[in-house]
Amino acid sequence: MARSLRPGERLVVATHNLGKLREIEVLVAPFGMSVVSAGELGLPEPEETGDTFEANALLKAEAAASASGLPALADDSGIAVDALGGAPGIYSARWAGPGKDFGAAMKSIEDKLAALGATRPEDRKAHFVAVLALAYPDGGHDLFRGEVHGTLVYPPRGGNGFGYDPMFVPGGHDVTFGEMDPLLKQAMSHRARAFALFAAARLPK
Ligand code: IMP
Repeated sequence: MARSLRPGERLVVATHNLGKLREIEVLVAPFGMSVVSAGELGLPEPEETGDTFEANALLKAEAAASASGLPALADDSGIAVDALGGAPGIYSARWAGPGKDFGAAMKSIEDKLAALGATRPEDRKAHFVAVLALAYPDGGHDLFRGEVHGTLVYPPRGGNGFGYDPMFVPGGHDVTFGEMDPLLKQAMSHRARAFALFAAARLPK
């Protein structure tokens, strides 16, 4: 059964990414909770075999919860382009290849949009998605989804952020996530929205 987390409880964060671990640590620390990463516990990283953000986040959280006996939090994220039927979606990291070449991944999106004649902003809509899964060792789980909607520009603009940030202009703004003050991006991002839902639902009151 899903339940609220308790002060003093330890949470496994199913990531080997130190940046994500620190982000979550800061979020839960005011509630008297501590975090440990799946990497620190020596847990293996399961393969992302799901076909939705939810399935991939959940398989990572469930693997960590059952291996550690602790509640576990995992996320899965990416960018979905409307005109491309939601691609790259769960394949966002994979489109950059083993060399993590996001310049090439953004060019690949642009080439596909150009082939469709998608030049007007309304034909270039996209959204970032982040799904957080919280799994309990007894089998229950919760899912929280955050999205931020906007349009794609090309060539990429700005040196802040990572991944697809330099081609994404969030709705209501005229700069890309790559040009935006990182604190402003963090406050309005898909991850921030998913975290806010998680915090409201499951962190101690
Ligand atoms: P994950 O770490 O498996 O969730 O992979 C997410 C991928 O989606 C990353 O490698 C990025 O390519 C992309 N992505 C997710 N969130 C963002 C973001 O905030 N900005 C830019 N790209 C992102």
